[in-house]
Order: sequence, then C-alpha cells, then structure tokens
Amino acid sequence: MQQPIGLLSHNNCQAMDANDPLAHYRDEFALPEGVIYLDGNSLGALPRRVSQRLRTAIDHEWGNGLIRSWNEADWYLAPQRAGAMISQLIGADKDEVIVCDSTSVNLYKVLMGALKMRPGRRIILSERGNFPTDVYVSSSVAEERGVELRAVDPDRIAAAIAEAGRDLAVLHLTHVNYKTGAVYDMAGITAAVHAQGGLVIWDLCHSAGTLEVDLNGCNVDLAVGCGYKYLNGGPGAPAFVFVAKRHIADFWQPIAGWHGHAKPFSFGHDYAPDPGIARMLVGTAPQLGLIALETALGVFACLDMRTLRRKGQELGDLFIRLVDQELSGHGFGLASPRDAAVRGSQVSLTHPQGYAIMQAVIARGAIGDFRAPDILRFGFAGLYVGFADVWDAVAILRDVMDKGLWDTVEYRTVKAVT
Ligand SMILES: *Cc1c(COP(=O)(O)O)cnc(C)c1O
Repeated sequence: MQQPIGLLSHNNCQAMDANDPLAHYRDEFALPEGVIYLDGNSLGALPRRVSQRLRTAIDHEWGNGLIRSWNEADWYLAPQRAGAMISQLIGADKDEVIVCDSTSVNLYKVLMGALKMRPGRRIILSERGNFPTDVYVSSSVAEERGVELRAVDPDRIAAAIAEAGRDLAVLHLTHVNYKTGAVYDMAGITAAVHAQGGLVIWDLCHSAGTLEVDLNGCNVDLAVGCGYKYLNGGPGAPAFVFVAKRHIADFWQPIAGWHGHAKPFSFGHDYAPDPGIARMLVGTAPQLGLIALETALGVFACLDMRTLRRKGQELGDLFIRLVDQELSGHGFGLASPRDAAVRGSQVSLTHPQGYAIMQAVIARGAIGDFRAPDILRFGFAGLYVGFADVWDAVAILRDVMDKGLWDTVEYRTVKAVT
C-alpha cells in the first residue's frame, strides 16, 4: 500500500532512512527477505559475521583442533574477552564484567552474594511486574535465606526504599521493564538505596546493546544481563554479570565451581576463588554459544551508543504516532510511556485480542511478540530496523484490523512460545 498514513508517507520514512547514520549496519545482519523484524528485544537477529565464525569454530577449531583449541584458538579466556566488550556498552571497566551461565543463574549468584554482604538486614526490594524469572529467583533466595521479598508497584519504589530503611539489604530491579518498556532512573534509585546502606542489582536484559548505561557513573554494585536480545548473541547465548571493582575481592559467589577457582588446572582439593571477576564463573563455558556472542559483539566495536539510543527513541516515537493516527477506534491502548526519555527501545500496545492479532501480523511478515494477558510488543533494534519498516508494520497492523484478519481459529490457538 502506498497511500500516506496520517501526516507521514512511506516516502517520508524512506527519507528518514536515507538520513540515518546507522542505516549501513543493516548489512551486518542476515535478515530474511520480506521480514520486518520487531522482536530483537526477545531474540536478536543473526549477524552475518557469526555464521562464518561458527563454521570455522566447528569445522576447524573443534573438528581439527580438538582439545588443543582451548589454548590454540584462545577459547579459554573468551568469557573475559566478551565481558570486556560488553563492559564498554554499559559503563563498566573491562575487568568488572564476565560472560557466563544464564541471566537467571547469574541473578542467583549476585543476590546470594549481596545478602551475604548485608547480614542482619531482612528485605529484598523489587517491583511487582518484574520479569518472572527475576521474581522466582528472588523469592526462592528470600525463602532460603529467611528474608522478605517485598515487591511494590513501580511508582512506589522511592517510598518503599525509605520505608525499608536500614532493613533494606538489596534492591533488585530490571532497568527497562520487559512488558511496558518503562525505564527506571538508575542513578537516583541507586543513590537512594545507598543512602540506606543497601546494595543494588540492576537487570540489564532490555538495556544492554540498545540504551546508554553508565553502571560506574551511577555507582551500581551488581548487575546481570542477557546475551541473546539486543546483543545478538544467538538463541540461549550466555549471559553476563557485573561486580563493581570495590566489591570483587570480597564477593562471595555461592556456586563454587572449578572455573571460578584461582587455579582451575591445579586440580586442588580445596576451593580458592579467583581474585578477580573470574570468581563469578562456575563450570566450562558453552563455547560455541560464547564464540557466537563474542563475534556478535564485534558489531558494536565502533558504535556510538548515544546515536543508537536516539534512533531507538525515534523509531518508537514514529510507531506511536502512526498507531495514534491509523488505529484509533480499534481498541488498542498504549502500555509504554509516551515520553521517549523514559521508554526503552520497544513499544507495547494492549488489546483484548492481542494474541490473535499478533499471529495475523506475524503471518504477514512483521514479527513482534505477545506477552500475557494482553500485550503486543514491538521492539526497535536500531541496528537493523529502519523507519520505513515501522511504516510497513503499522500498515500491516491496520490491514489486519480493518479487515478483521486476526479472527480465525488458527490465530486464536495459543502456541508454546509466544
Ligand atoms: C530475557 C530476560 C531474562 C532471561 O533470563 P534467562 O535466564 O536468560 O532465561 C531475565 N530477566 C529479564 C528481565 C529478561 O528480560
């Protein structure tokens, strides 16, 4: 369809693409023809360089090199190297971040360690509506350690910090909410927690690789995040963990495994943690996944995060503007902040038929996702989504709504992974 949507036309959006300083990054990614990919917040797209690198890793390094590749192909220090690359994107130092395990497991490690650093304090503070794994891990830690998990509404965080006072052991929040895309004030909240003597853990799953994050500028204690969303590390890519330098030497990591040992290959009977960030490791890295992530991170090497952040905001603003103009009367609500300053790189809509609508939209080539009970999520990864893509996606959504194309048994049938 070529008629203008509201005040903007497809041509206007193409002109925005022509002026986009990041437009050339799209060639870094192997996206299928005819697909508008708006789900990089769930699984990042495939960087072309990763396919090539993995072929070498499998056929040459694993196939021919065999066990020699731990040394000869530099496999062994990949967790540190990938961590150092991520540190540049999140305002940390190179030796404060390491790649390992999943976000869920890393969260367990930092929560347990944080509680150990604040003995006698009895509250873990978090948000109602946090990502489920964050809630499950923190409730099981709270139960095990005999402390209270206090989950409050997002607008009650400041008050809850003051109420918890000197009982606050650790605050654990996700910087960008996975459902709404709302962004917390990392600096302000961290300072408020420190004023009570507590520690903070920030989950950066929806921030790393798309927002400017300044962990050390905000004086953050601990953080975790995901490798397979905006960092494009591939399905189930290993996650990362940050421990501020001032805490590392004394940080107790609850899963003592041989790769966290100071000298794993001395095969000693007694555990002595690595003096640095490597104490956060547990067992052998999933090496192929790690190689994919390390290679994918190369795409960010010369990137200015401010430019990427701004593009994510502009894409979201454009999407909201087009939805306002073209989909009024179709029952959509906006679940994300309208103000781009406090919105991550996603926009979420609500609709009672959200699941079936998203299925119909996906079938027509625009891929977003659905989160129960009624959220349609559209992610705007600025490295490979353009402005004309946003226009096309809204056009598909409008078509689906105008013609009632979502209302079929097939689209209403809920699949295992939404
Ligand atoms: C994606 C995501 C996770 C994922 O955790 P895994 O252990 O990698 O499955 C955790 N927390 C948040 C906030 C997320 O968005």
